Formats: sequence, C-alpha cells, structure tokens
Amino acid sequence: MKLVLIGPPGCGKGTQAEKLCKKFGLPHISSGNILRAEVAAGSPFGKKIKSYMDRGEIGPQELITEVVLEYIDKHCPSGFILDGFPRTVYQAQELEKRHSIVAAIYFKLAKKEILKRITGRRTCKTCARVYHIDYNPPKKRDICDACGGELLQRDDDKKETVENRIKVFEAETLPVIDFYKSAGILKEVNANPAPDIVFNEILHLV
Ligand code: ADP
Ligand code: AMP
Repeated sequence: MKLVLIGPPGCGKGTQAEKLCKKFGLPHISSGNILRAEVAAGSPFGKKIKSYMDRGEIGPQELITEVVLEYIDKHCPSGFILDGFPRTVYQAQELEKRHSIVAAIYFKLAKKEILKRITGRRTCKTCARVYHIDYNPPKKRDICDACGGELLQRDDDKKETVENRIKVFEAETLPVIDFYKSAGILKEVNANPAPDIVFNEILHLV
C-alpha cells in the first residue's frame, strides 16, 4: 500500500501516519524528518536547505525530490505512508512516475486550530516523537515518555514562521490536492476531532 497524507502544517499528518504504520506494518516517510536529519548532520545538502526550512519555504525542490525518492528506493520501495511529500505539483508528478499511489488523504483543519496545534507542539530532540502541551502532554514536563530525551519547540513552529508556512501550503500544496482529485484518488478527512476519531475516519476511507 502506498498512501500520501496531505494537509496544512500541524494538521496531524505525523500523528496519523504513526497509527497507520502500526496498523498496516508500513514505514512512515516524513520528508520533514529526513530533511531535519540532514540539517542536524551538517551535510552539504543540509547546509543548502537549512535557511529555507527556517523560513518554512520549499527550497530547491528538484534536489529535495531526488533525496526523498532515493530514500524511498532504499528503505521501502514496495509500500509506505508519505507525510509532507509531495508538497508541489512537480513533486507529485515525479512521485507518480515511480510509484502508483492508492489514495491521497487531505486533512482539513481551520487556521485557528492549526495555529494552536503548531505553537503547542513539542518534539523529542532524540527520537522525534511528537507531543502537545495541552492535547497530548508528556508524563514529565519537557521529557519524552518513550526515550527520556529532551522535548523542544521546533524553530519553525514559532508563531512568526507559522503564518508563512500556511501561505506556502496554500500557494504550493493546494494545487497538489487538485492533482490527486483529477486522478480520482483524493479522500478528504475532517482533521478536527481527537486523534482516534480521525484515525477511524481514515480507516473507513482507505
Ligand atoms: P503534522 O505532521 O501535520 O505537522 P502533527 O501530527 O505533528 O502534525 O500534529 C501537530 C500537533 O497537534 C502535535 O502537537 C500533535 O500532538 C497535535 N495533534 C495531532 N492530531 C491532533 C488531534 N486530532 N487533536 C488534537 N491535537 C492533535
Ligand atoms: P514538516 O516537517 O513537514 O512540517 O516540514 C518542515 C519543513 O521542511 C518545511 O517547512 C519545508 O521547509 C521542508 N520540507 C519538508 N518537506 C518538504 C518537501 N516535500 N519539499 C520541500 N521542502 C520540504
């Protein structure tokens, strides 16, 4: 099964990808996590993309597409849940050339809730597990339940960058939703309810 999760930043794609992966035994491919690992490693590619990521922009998309598609070839060519990719029509076309996607799930969420989710998100520095200060707090403040790592707010989750990320989503990624609608594989989900409810809705759709 090859699934794509699309939606504005902070709508819950990573949260649902984790649940879907557990249920179907598929790998979770988050382009954001792949790119953050490159930045953290200080690779030449990481250095090239860092400033774009800090601003919440798309950056050199041909290069990013190559990196993500190579990652898929290496780790999971026969099935995956993609989160954060494709983000542009170019990326969707390149993905389509190599993989047959069974469904693209569009997470719909109002801007007010997007802002609450992103600004309250905390991410484990060590294992990248995601929490929320109100909706899904860790047992011990700022400590990851799973690995004991430190929980931090991503730099691009600060209020100043979030508005720009939403604008980039509207300009670059909404056309990807039309792309999948034309292909007849778009499914829409109301991302507003609690995670388990959203999850059940997705299971019905796929
Ligand atoms: P994305 O991967 O789309 O950027 P995340 O899955 O990281 O989004 O979720 C963003 C934040 O919202 C996280 O702090 C997460 O714990 C929280 N969250 C995710 N889904 C829900 C939900 N259905 N209800 C409330 N909070 C949620
Ligand atoms: P995310 O973890 O999905 O919120 O992504 C964080 C940041 O990584 C984005 O704001 C972009 O700067 C960059 N990014 C993630 N995925 C992509 C992609 N598919 N194409 C280009 N940039 C991306």
